[in-house]
Amino acid sequence: MAAPIILSIKLMIYSGVYQICWSAELLVFALSCKLMPSTISNLPVCRACVEKCEKSGCVGDNCFQHCNFSSDEKLINSPWYLQEPLYQRWKQWDCLSDCRYHCMLAREGEREKLGDRPVKYHGKWPFRRVFGIQEPVSVALSALNLAMQFHGWVSFFILVNYKLPLRPDRKTYYEYTGLWHIYAIFSMNTWFWSAVFHTRDVDLTEKLDYSSMVALLGFSLILAVLRSFNVRDEAARVMVSAPLIALVTTHILYLNFYQLDYGLNMKVCLAMGIAQLLLWAIWAGVTCHPSRWKLWVVVIGGGLAMLLEIYDFPPYRGLVDAHALWHATTIPLTYLWWSFVRDDSEFRTSTLIKKAK
Ligand SMILES: [Zn+2]
Repeated sequence: MAAPIILSIKLMIYSGVYQICWSAELLVFALSCKLMPSTISNLPVCRACVEKCEKSGCVGDNCFQHCNFSSDEKLINSPWYLQEPLYQRWKQWDCLSDCRYHCMLAREGEREKLGDRPVKYHGKWPFRRVFGIQEPVSVALSALNLAMQFHGWVSFFILVNYKLPLRPDRKTYYEYTGLWHIYAIFSMNTWFWSAVFHTRDVDLTEKLDYSSMVALLGFSLILAVLRSFNVRDEAARVMVSAPLIALVTTHILYLNFYQLDYGLNMKVCLAMGIAQLLLWAIWAGVTCHPSRWKLWVVVIGGGLAMLLEIYDFPPYRGLVDAHALWHATTIPLTYLWWSFVRDDSEFRTSTLIKKAK
């Protein structure tokens, strides 16, 4: 009988936390609305171009092999067993994507001749593809980020398991080892999907990229709370993480199965990002940690990098935009971050050994 009551109390707590986070988001919202450039609607001209292209398979002198399906329209209307559905759909889908891309390029060319600044198409800046990769610079930088995370993780793993002394039960003295391992997996997962998404931007890759980023931000916020408040007790850790996990899960489900709301996602991500930067900054201010300067650099660098996400400028030569630069800034920050984590494990281990003696 008590179970439904407990469940409803839990739900009330979770929705309460979601409400509080919402208020924090509103604060950020006021900021981001002012800073975000408005997207000028360019759609009517483009829609006409795409429609024409899907019928003719050409934009100007440029024609695409994927658009040859329209010659046998009977096939499309015939029963499913007479069709080559996947192949046909695939062709149709590739045709639409090619048409959209080339119509966008044609439109941007016209706008450039008139001396206009680039505008967004379907909410995205016009990028130039290189070998079929949509945003080559972002892909390369995501791969570098992934490599840096892997390097940081491996060096941390070697340090805590092979270089620092272990407890008699072969466990590490450092109390946050497991949490940093999970953090490494979350961040490598995020950079992997980021590289995939920037290679080919479709519904599925976009959702995977956004969801992994939200999951990473959520987990790193939990980690920030646990480390800065020095939460070592297992039950206390669960108490702190449960509402945050509920919030992040709700948000991921909302994005994937209800609506992929870019504005809301931006606010949620900014709120979680700012919260953890503040936590680390305050902690760096009050602690006597020998490597607190590294925290300061990461916090200030991370804050400045966040501005790049807010001041969203169009891609230079169709290649480097604010988002790509943001991916570039995270590479040195990642190096410094893992270096802080290594220092922290050494610091905690030596403190605990001194205490034991
Ligand atoms: Zn990205």
